[in-house]
Amino acid sequence: MTAQARDDDPTFRPSRAFVSLIGAGPGDPGLLTLRGKAALEAADVVLYDYLAAGELLQFCPRAERIDVGKKGYSEYVSQEDINALMVLKAQQDGGKRVARLKGGDVFVFGRGGEEAQACRAAGVPFEVVPGVTSAIAAPAYAGIPVTHRGLASSFAVITGREKEGDALYGNLSGVDTLVLLMGVRNLDSVAQKLIDTGRSPATPAATVQWGTTSRQRVARGTLSTIAEEVARAGLEAPAVTVVGEVASLRDTLQWFDTSPLFGRTVVVTRTQERNSALADVLRLRGAQVVELPLIRHEKTGDPGTLYRALSQLHSFDWTLLTSQQAVHELFWHLEEMGQDARAFGRGRVAAVGPATARALEARGIRADFTPATPGAAHLGRELPARPGSRLLHLASHRAEDALEEALSARGLNVERVELYRTEPREPDEAALRALHSADVVTLASGSAARALAEVAGTKYRVAVMGPQTEKAAREAGFSAITLAREASLDALADAAAQVVTARFE
Ligand code: SAH
Repeated sequence: MTAQARDDDPTFRPSRAFVSLIGAGPGDPGLLTLRGKAALEAADVVLYDYLAAGELLQFCPRAERIDVGKKGYSEYVSQEDINALMVLKAQQDGGKRVARLKGGDVFVFGRGGEEAQACRAAGVPFEVVPGVTSAIAAPAYAGIPVTHRGLASSFAVITGREKEGDALYGNLSGVDTLVLLMGVRNLDSVAQKLIDTGRSPATPAATVQWGTTSRQRVARGTLSTIAEEVARAGLEAPAVTVVGEVASLRDTLQWFDTSPLFGRTVVVTRTQERNSALADVLRLRGAQVVELPLIRHEKTGDPGTLYRALSQLHSFDWTLLTSQQAVHELFWHLEEMGQDARAFGRGRVAAVGPATARALEARGIRADFTPATPGAAHLGRELPARPGSRLLHLASHRAEDALEEALSARGLNVERVELYRTEPREPDEAALRALHSADVVTLASGSAARALAEVAGTKYRVAVMGPQTEKAAREAGFSAITLAREASLDALADAAAQVVTARFE
């Protein structure tokens, strides 16, 4: 159809049909690219593989999810069926955006090329979002660089599937590092063929199973012993094997699977919509992270009072915001009222900590005050307000009174208005199972402590963010509490590590 015809035809709708072939990365969800995340967020349908991290599906909560997983060698869904389904979904109902999420990189033994061809043949536009391949990332997380000055200046990624591999081995004599994918089962015969074609049996080798995840396991040996070591350790697919001098660098460069949190299950309780930053920090330390949302945000039960306060925002000397959610809710209401940041007039705005300040900044407001140590009590003690100032605290009905207490101790009055409500959310079966098997549970706020106690009891070892959270946790009935040395994600992760080391020593 020409542009002219489109303009003339009022019923014309350009098709939304589109396929993003996305590399999901090797397992650690933090290794998805920013482009991959954006494409997932835009998807109506997601077709995902066995090796694509389940955590990534959180980026497309409303998309239709189809598991086309292939496990090991037994294909559940044939490649032809995947191609057909992908095209069908893209062309459904006037066109859909399909995210085709594939383990590692799209084109490294991923059959992504065939999927792109199927799109082209069907006239469906597509994009390719490359991913971090397990061929490089699994060795990297095992402390093995695939090239290294003086040791290896080339590497080849090869298949361990015999039929395809056989013709290869003899041609690889000039390549320093070999990375073998899909090769655990045949490792014995592949290693022998490499020796037969001239590689020294003493060449260092390492096999990495479930690389970049909390289940990562590594076997070390030489070309002549690696198959035996792998069998002894019981390693199976998915695994990559690195053959070359670089494999021995693990002995000095091991980093990921040495952390005390490595392989431990950490439940991250969440009382904010968007705070997986702690989960990322913990995963980088090798923890198996289970995120547990504890609350739902509801609209205020008293909109009259809220709207009265919001329509007079400019008449307050200070508006105090004690969570990112509060910033989010405040601007939602301002928008509803047809207003924007100018509603503050000359009134000043204070944030409880850097995250809240950043949320404000995203809305075009630089916080006039943020306490040096984040926390409601610090905000109350340090707020540079003059006696007689009009103060407004916009918060959840469950927010702690620490701010009001600290202000009133200074003779300052604050008007507190319910901006939103936080209601407990019952954990599902899987979450409860995770809680019971968890090595440690993190609590980043008093409301998290209270909500967890309310929905699932207090029989967990908890690592808490600050003294106020500690106090709230104690009051809620927790007894095994470890306090982070300061209010930062790294310190909270350290506290979690302290809990597991204390437990396993
Ligand atoms: N496109 C993928 C590879 C798909 S082939 C990529 O770029 O990573 C599947 C093989 O990838 C597996 O048999 C295994 O050899 C390897 N693999 C994938 N994820 C892995 C992981 N987390 N750890 C180790 N090997 C992995």
